[in-house]
Amino acid sequence: MKKPAAIRVLHTAAECFPLVKTGGLADVVAALPKAQRAAKLDARLLLPGLPALREALKSPVEIAQCGPAFGAARVTLLRGLLPDSTVPTYLIDAPWLYARPGNPYLGPDGREWPDNPQRFALLGWVAAQLAMGELDPAWCPDIVHAHDWHAALAPVYMAAHATAATGVSQARSVLTVHNLAYQGRFSADRFSDLQLPGWLSGPAGIEFHSELCFLKGGIQFADRITTVSPTYAREILTPAEGHQLDGLLRHRSDRLSGIVNGIDTAVWNPATDTAIAAPFDAEHTAGKALCKQALQREFGLHQTPGAPILGVISRLTPQKGLDLLLSALHQWLGAGGQMVLLGSGDPALEHACRATAQAAPDQIAVRIGYDEALAHRIVAGSDLIGVPSRFEPCGLTQLYGLRYGTIPLVHHVGGLADTVVDASDAAVSEDRATGFSYRGAHLDELSHALRRAIDMWHNPPAWQRVMQRAMAQDTSWHAPATRYADLYRVLVGQSTS
Ligand code: ADP
Repeated sequence: MKKPAAIRVLHTAAECFPLVKTGGLADVVAALPKAQRAAKLDARLLLPGLPALREALKSPVEIAQCGPAFGAARVTLLRGLLPDSTVPTYLIDAPWLYARPGNPYLGPDGREWPDNPQRFALLGWVAAQLAMGELDPAWCPDIVHAHDWHAALAPVYMAAHATAATGVSQARSVLTVHNLAYQGRFSADRFSDLQLPGWLSGPAGIEFHSELCFLKGGIQFADRITTVSPTYAREILTPAEGHQLDGLLRHRSDRLSGIVNGIDTAVWNPATDTAIAAPFDAEHTAGKALCKQALQREFGLHQTPGAPILGVISRLTPQKGLDLLLSALHQWLGAGGQMVLLGSGDPALEHACRATAQAAPDQIAVRIGYDEALAHRIVAGSDLIGVPSRFEPCGLTQLYGLRYGTIPLVHHVGGLADTVVDASDAAVSEDRATGFSYRGAHLDELSHALRRAIDMWHNPPAWQRVMQRAMAQDTSWHAPATRYADLYRVLVGQSTS
């Protein structure tokens, strides 16, 4: 029997690690297509031509010019490769929208760029044009896989094309929601900037509570909606976690599923990580002790192997629950624990973190900023990684923790619930436990989890057991990439399930 052709997937997103990254989305966008190509899918990327990407694109070839679109006579589509990547990458060269260094969404004043509707509508529009076979004569996707609100208009433009009968695309669409809290909401009068037919301006289109909502449009029109863990996929169907979109999500729940993210195990590998003080793996853990010493030295913490270090790497926003952690710290410090925190975000939270560190400088270190190499040193040198998020679609730092034998201490929600097995007595004795997972985003519950961690720290055989079990988890993209491939196969009719 003839083998079916490799499925062609166009990942469409605003970020890609390491060149443009504000959060876990960028890691997924870099790693998933790579894993899919390894699994023999023809995965490619479509990204906006932000300066860091435009400058890095190797051997760019001009594929097409299109337009007029979004305020310019011409938009140029380039194709090339990003450094250290074998994933063919399309970049939208539209300098009047994208030639702005720094954060992809915010101007230097920290506010959204006023033309963000056009900037990200163009991303979806080009994806739809590619899906119509109108831009690259040599390649047309079977699946447009849009990530987050920035790309969420891709399925909407695909639907608009289909009803306008400007051509029939066979392509199917998948929308992955990495965080439902970010929706791309704009004032309704911006609809005329989007080059969409009038019927899409109403509730059957992208209108949402008298505004425009890009994510709503994507959820409405995508053939499949995924989010980044099965638990989060259930949570967002509830009013408490649905960010007002739970009604629509319930309506489309037969199209919704959750697939836990993996991590790039080449980038996050303690045996080969050049950013850390000494390599280690599950059989040779001596290097981890050296990483801990180096971390204590780097931050002027009391140099003792007996003090457990809690590492935190996070955006500083209310979602991440670090206010609770700061409030719960006194008992951790009282028991001789230490903490190293790396993060940036809300000025009030940054200030609170700094103030906490100043009060106990030989036990707490805080670095405000964004530092990829330091994130590796913290994961490698800490004993625990703390993720006290109020909600967490998937979370990546607990996965790094598992891989580096840095036991996760997490709130039992979303992807944290799906990736960490709590060290209950039963789970420890059955050798299933991989961390500490507490229920309820409250001070008491978090404090109790910290106490349990201290208790286990004083029981080294139990600690070692949990650490070994953590390191034995498969956190790679292998299984998630297979799940996405299964979903694509159903969509393109290569599977009967
Ligand atoms: P989110 O996407 O909500 O920020 P995730 O846990 O999914 O949360 O992903 C966060 C990613 O960003 C991880 O790769 C984490 O290591 C990284 N990160 C967050 N803050 C920083 C920081 N200040 N410095 C370096 N890396 C950071």
